[in-house]
Amino acid sequence: ITVPAAAIPGLTWRNRFAALGPDFFTELQPTPLPSPYWVSRNQALARELGLDEQWFTSQEALALFTGNKVAESSQPLASVYSGHQFGQWAGQLGDGRAILLGELQTAAGPQETQLKGAGLTPYSRMGDGRAVLRSSIREYLCSEAMHGLGIPTTRALCVTGSDAKVRREEIETAAVVTRTAPSFIRFGHFEHFSYSDQHEQLKTLADFVIDSFYPECRDADQPYAALLQAVSERTAIMVAAWQAVGFCHGVMNTDNMSILGLTIDYGPFQFLDAFDPGHICNHSDTQGRYAYNKQPNIAYWNLFCLGQALLPLMDGQEQALAALESYKTVFPQALEGRMRAKLGLSDMLPGDKALIEGVFKLLAADKVDYSIFWRRLGTFEPGAANEAVRDLFLDRPGFDVWSLLYSERLMQADKGLRADLMLKTNPKYVLRNHLGEQAIRAAKLQDFSGVDTLLMLLQAPFEEHPGQEKFAGFPPDWASSIEISCSS
Ligand code: AMP
Ligand code: MG
Ligand code: MG
Repeated sequence: ITVPAAAIPGLTWRNRFAALGPDFFTELQPTPLPSPYWVSRNQALARELGLDEQWFTSQEALALFTGNKVAESSQPLASVYSGHQFGQWAGQLGDGRAILLGELQTAAGPQETQLKGAGLTPYSRMGDGRAVLRSSIREYLCSEAMHGLGIPTTRALCVTGSDAKVRREEIETAAVVTRTAPSFIRFGHFEHFSYSDQHEQLKTLADFVIDSFYPECRDADQPYAALLQAVSERTAIMVAAWQAVGFCHGVMNTDNMSILGLTIDYGPFQFLDAFDPGHICNHSDTQGRYAYNKQPNIAYWNLFCLGQALLPLMDGQEQALAALESYKTVFPQALEGRMRAKLGLSDMLPGDKALIEGVFKLLAADKVDYSIFWRRLGTFEPGAANEAVRDLFLDRPGFDVWSLLYSERLMQADKGLRADLMLKTNPKYVLRNHLGEQAIRAAKLQDFSGVDTLLMLLQAPFEEHPGQEKFAGFPPDWASSIEISCSS
């Protein structure tokens, strides 16, 4: 099939990934979908990219972001990667349904632009190359929720849909998410060339990543060890942010780990409702490998795989291990910083660690709603009854003991600064499963207003948004029975 050409007014393409050569990808065209329609457009991102507002509503844009037309001078391709899935070497995977259009030269710098769900590729294996409306809405909303929370992530520009049927557990309909990032290169890309003994290509890839995204590593004695260290640090900062906000990724396979430390591949993710350290959000994860409290160690495990993959470019294992050490120092520091901010403390005193550990013990024991607790804690007054917070706990005496410690600590903190810091750190609006689910149910009936409302709230999750409080409340009882699996 040859897809007709279209242009994005004012924007041009560059195809640096395509320039790496045919060992890295297969060139191909997206497979058109019948009668596409808009599900949602992300105007905020469109503005950041410098997309023409009028054009973005056009039939031409709709066709382009569904894969029914291809942008002039873009060079669509599916890249090849491998990876470890659930702790096992899975061999070759690759873009089974994502098609890279190229790098759009935008107001926000060069952004690789992918269509996810745009048809079969040589890497589709048993899959159909499609994505369903349900999972596309989840990826779209969560990418933007993470961005709104200040967490490094790929972005999502729009979702388009079609009535074309897609078979999952039941028959669903197809959708395409357009997503952007400076690069979609994963740990798995490196693993692919390393494990297949294509060390020349491994070096080409590492050099490309260093020169494009980590130029400071070029000046190091050992640029590839410096790269591993820089990726370890970015990954540590990303996972610390996940933990602080109660985000569970759900499928931290090495092919779902970005070389830029971006949250990528939104599948069975979940924001915690009740705080449960061992929470497993992926219904397919029977062993709990990717439980909430395992994420920090899994990230290290994944970095270790990346280190192993980079070994052919390094002078011995010690170099790799030394580079990975940075994860072990940066992660706890980053987490402590995030937690301190959640408590409204702008500096760290000796007793603060105990204060943080103490509150997590109480939250876990009583399975307190994670986001509501932190948001309400912003109203905490030293020495006052603080019922809005206290009432969240069953163990009131336990809370009272902690609250005394916290009150004492707050005597040494600036009140105005604290309130401000907490309001900017503890979101009022998070993408809880049931909120996504409600928007998806309506979307399946062609009502997309719920998606747009959530998008608006999640892009500014720290604001009050008067009149929208129903999106900031406790989850309903049925929320805990939602089962999200890898099926997407
Ligand atoms: P994931 O578990 O979503 O990270 O996907 C793992 C691998 O399966 C990747 O290579 C995906 O491209 C591929 N994949 C997932 N779903 C499909 C699908 N419906 N069609 C083709 N490939 C898929
Ligand atoms: Mg993936
Ligand atoms: Mg996926």
